Amino acid sequence: MKRVYNFSAGPSVLPEAVLRRAAEEMLDYQGSGQSVMEMSHRSKIFEGIIESAESCLRELMNIPENYKVLFLQGGGWSQFAMIPLNLMVNSGKADFVVTGQWAAKAQEEASRYGEARIVASSKDKTFSYIPELDPAAFTPDADYFYICMNNTIYGTRYTKLPETGNVPLVADISSCILSEPIDVSKFGLLFAGAQKNVAPAGLTMVIVREDLIGHAKEFTPTMFNYKIHADNGSLFNTPPCYPIYICGLVLEWIKSEFGSLEGMKAHNEKKAGILYDFLDQSKMFRGTVVKKDRSLMNVPFVTGSDELDKKFVKEAEAAGFVNLKGHRSVGGMRASIYNAMPIEGVQKLVDFMVEFEKNNA
Ligand code: PMP
Repeated sequence: MKRVYNFSAGPSVLPEAVLRRAAEEMLDYQGSGQSVMEMSHRSKIFEGIIESAESCLRELMNIPENYKVLFLQGGGWSQFAMIPLNLMVNSGKADFVVTGQWAAKAQEEASRYGEARIVASSKDKTFSYIPELDPAAFTPDADYFYICMNNTIYGTRYTKLPETGNVPLVADISSCILSEPIDVSKFGLLFAGAQKNVAPAGLTMVIVREDLIGHAKEFTPTMFNYKIHADNGSLFNTPPCYPIYICGLVLEWIKSEFGSLEGMKAHNEKKAGILYDFLDQSKMFRGTVVKKDRSLMNVPFVTGSDELDKKFVKEAEAAGFVNLKGHRSVGGMRASIYNAMPIEGVQKLVDFMVEFEKNNA
């Protein structure tokens, strides 16, 4: 068996130890004589799986008691609608910072349900930075303030949160969840598609402050109402059982390998540092993001020549470094180096880049 180094932006690499454990338990989960794929979501045994995933998530992210954790389906895109349907319910206004395609899509979707105001954007420089935010420009009676914490396509991340006062801060953490500590108490709602740092595609996690639940617009579809899922412990209908099980294994893996999200962050800084340090001294490759806003998870880079970029992606793939092509909207390259990417994967990629630079100088 030969495994590649997979730099996909999502679905992405999972920890090998987790895949091995899932394989071991595939036919007989802990003596039940069944696979987790086959068992009823109403069984005692699955109850144990979902409860331990939630408690492990609460422990690692230090989620306060007054927040609900929801295991849903529908991906980030469903949250783009679910958030305004549930939260845009008083003034009917919300503020958005547009730092890339995903924040833009969230803003467009919210504008179907209320007044979705853009308070800042980094579109002028192809989303290569996080804009400075002036609280004087914020809407004082907004129902929420929306940011995309880590911008998967452009490789930027917030290192400082906007000061929104009493307006609940809402963040898309799809591509940075569990990569570093986050102070949940500063947010009204956090959500993430699991397919990058947590599990296979199919699971969407929502962490929402209790007082924001139960006020959905009257026409909200049942499945899009947070209250329905909160009241039923994410078991209103059939949840994405298998991704929830893998999520639990990934959380246990983080705990046993890194101890905490502080430990995870130190590991990610070291790993991303190897690639950024190389990019900063290379004569052929360069990173495309303003240094202070660089993501720990998604690292876009270019050579400056489309032809050379193509050659690089092709040769890298042949050498076992796959999915390095940049997003179709920006081109160039992007290495997504989520939690499960081992340090040696990044080190070997850099070694390969050094060789490529030498051979194509
Ligand atoms: N938000 C972010 C930050 C993303 O990276 C993505 C997908 N890559 C989405 C939202 C959309 O998620 P989904 O495909 O799960 O709807």
